[in-house]
Amino acid sequence: MLTIQFLGAAGQVTGSKYFLRTATHRGVMVDCGLFQGGHELRAMNWNPLPIQISDIANLVLTHAHLDHTGYIPKLVKSGFHGQVWCTPATLDVTQYIIRDSAHLQEEDALHANRHKFSRHKPALPLYVTEDAEKALGFFHVQDRHKQKTLPDNVSFEYSNAGHILGSCSVRLEKIEAPNGLGMNGNQQAKAISILFSGDLGREKPIYLKPREAPPQADFVVCESTYGDRLHQNIDPTEELYDIVKDVLARNAVLLIPAFAVDRAQELIFCLNTLMREGKIPAIPTFVDSPMATEVTSLYEKYTQEHTISAEELKEPDKNPLSFPSLKFTQTVDDSKRLNDLKGPAIIISASGMATGGRIMHHLFNRLSKPETIVLFTGYQAEETLGRDLMNGAKTVTIFGEKVPVAAKVMTLTNFSAHSDQREILDWLKQMPKPPKRLFLTHGEDSARTILKGVIEKELGWSVAMPKLNEVVDLLTF
Ligand SMILES: [Zn+2]
Repeated sequence: MLTIQFLGAAGQVTGSKYFLRTATHRGVMVDCGLFQGGHELRAMNWNPLPIQISDIANLVLTHAHLDHTGYIPKLVKSGFHGQVWCTPATLDVTQYIIRDSAHLQEEDALHANRHKFSRHKPALPLYVTEDAEKALGFFHVQDRHKQKTLPDNVSFEYSNAGHILGSCSVRLEKIEAPNGLGMNGNQQAKAISILFSGDLGREKPIYLKPREAPPQADFVVCESTYGDRLHQNIDPTEELYDIVKDVLARNAVLLIPAFAVDRAQELIFCLNTLMREGKIPAIPTFVDSPMATEVTSLYEKYTQEHTISAEELKEPDKNPLSFPSLKFTQTVDDSKRLNDLKGPAIIISASGMATGGRIMHHLFNRLSKPETIVLFTGYQAEETLGRDLMNGAKTVTIFGEKVPVAAKVMTLTNFSAHSDQREILDWLKQMPKPPKRLFLTHGEDSARTILKGVIEKELGWSVAMPKLNEVVDLLTF
């Protein structure tokens, strides 16, 4: 038996969760992410999964991002007690992400109850810190390019996806005995393989080791975030340079909502380059995200994940992830002190889609001031504050209060950690032969519909756009 069920990221970019049923009451889940975005999407995190939690024996993670791991504490709260697999770097990053997520859930519920703006009385957190800590007890690490065997003749193997520290594509294989015969039956058993792209990085990342070519598989589940778009061919450092010039000319405070994992570090890397080349002066720059600070320290531990050498990271004058006017704020008081900061200055803070975290306080304080520039650096999901601002909202609601937008809002497109349409195609083309079917997930319907058309036309493959909770029997192909 081998079916796949699409429990998230099916018509949207968040909530990645797939369930491979390998026996009547057992299977492997791949990724376990939170739905993020507007009220309706977030409400989906409260719906019970359409499978028995006890059927999930193993959970295999592609990478640490919240939309791939943020549901794990909830899964544990619902009774999951299987094994969770990921690369060593993914484990380290995931610890920060799910602890932070639990903390934000608790804070949001508290805040909503105190200010009475929730529709739920009282507002409850999806999970709490204890659930996150308990979840971390189920984790095991697995390096790339080593096969790991699971029950029901299933095995999996990771390869590099070049998306963030530790990120992977994962190929699962099941040896299926024919017609229900045991493995000692006379007929030959056949192997069926499924490749999950995970989130696919760029062909040429800023400093991460680039993604590897996909291994052959019978089925492919591929992301399609930017399936309808081509990234501009501009050096991200140059793109940032133009914006910093504007910041200097206007004595502005540049507010950058940034994903704490890798995006914050890429920004530091590019600012460092501009300062070292003498293109910009030493602008006071603050990384106001404890998680971004922690993740920056992981670069030394995982030098095999990127192209910056251990020696460079150790020497202050050579370290590309540091510069003299850069400060990492730690405490809430340090963060609050930034409220009085005058331009020119830069504040980098999480979360990247402005869905929570310290950036909310900075946006709350500075959006109404015309001397603020807000710079988005990554994908903004539907119904997030980030998407509203990017779409030119004149007023937004933060902490239940209306905030007029006088700030200039800009977007950097070239910092994306996701392949664009061409890069996805180039990756797929490297497969030795076409899969029996390609399932497009992790993209809004508009993006994956266009990508489907392009893949069918250019590669002639059979492409499906699975719906949420759809089950596909992989043995019928
Ligand atoms: Zn991701």
